[in-house]
Amino acid sequence: MHESETTDGAAFLARCKAFEGREVDALVAPDPVNQAMIRHWVEAMGDANPVYTDPDAAAASVHGEIIAPAVMLQAWTMPGLHGNARGPGDTNPQSQLLNLLDDAGFVGVVATDSEQEYVRMLHLGDHITARSVIDEVSTEKRTALGVGHFITTRIDYTDADGELVGTQRWRILKFRPGTGRGAAAPPAAAAPEAEPPRRMPRPRPGTTLDNLFFFEGAMERRLLIQRCAACQVLRHPPQPRCDRCGAYDWDTVEACGRGTVYSFVVNHYPQVPAFDYPLPIGLIELEEGTRLVAQIVDCPIEDIVVGMAVEVTWLDDDPELVVPAFRPARSGS
Ligand SMILES: [Zn+2]
Repeated sequence: MHESETTDGAAFLARCKAFEGREVDALVAPDPVNQAMIRHWVEAMGDANPVYTDPDAAAASVHGEIIAPAVMLQAWTMPGLHGNARGPGDTNPQSQLLNLLDDAGFVGVVATDSEQEYVRMLHLGDHITARSVIDEVSTEKRTALGVGHFITTRIDYTDADGELVGTQRWRILKFRPGTGRGAAAPPAAAAPEAEPPRRMPRPRPGTTLDNLFFFEGAMERRLLIQRCAACQVLRHPPQPRCDRCGAYDWDTVEACGRGTVYSFVVNHYPQVPAFDYPLPIGLIELEEGTRLVAQIVDCPIEDIVVGMAVEVTWLDDDPELVVPAFRPARSGS
């Protein structure tokens, strides 16, 4: 009812910004670092390194004793299934900030990124406390999910002696559902009449130093495959290290673009607005030997069969993202 007066303008932002620098109630780990939780974690992650579970192997390692996986840092102080309830009368500054945003209609929430830094490895018996400070509340941002505010929290993890063992920067987006990409555009933003309606762009790939070459190559209509610089084995998807010989150095080769359908699916749901459905997706085995996942185009779905010869073509209506697709090989090519 008072939504417009709380969300419009600088006053609302100032109320949010007033939370910057405020400390959130500290979380004390319910249990010390222990073997049972470590064992469940590494089993779930598929990490068989004995330094986490085998006392003898750990004793012989550089650590000298069992250590907890570094990325478990946040796990030790998690409040558990029933510890996260947030009521209107909650005095914790973080709860108050979230309630303020909820009341203004920013009821959606998504975690956007998390960075951790480790000061030392944790050992069995370490008792961890997490102290959080609300670092920053952003100005109102327009995002693909909706209009909202990013909240960045800095968390310091300390041991029983108060010594810092690690830190974390944790960012969430509180957004107003229904105001993101795909929502009705405000009249002022309507495209000029002459311009045809534009398809929503494809979701952007997550690029890293290891896979960027693939997308940069695609922008030039070149299908590149990563190659180990030491043993020459080709690999896809890209990864930092050779599975066969362990080398880190790599270069790329350009594929000829011919291959066969190794397998395929026809996707009906869920439907993402950037794509047309039914959407055939192939696992394409290239002549060079690696496989990649790509859309199959220019072919009736009922005609797609395993083993079918295909060749690369490029989906390039999007000026910022060109991706390979495969069509039936044309005779003589
Ligand atoms: Zn190799």
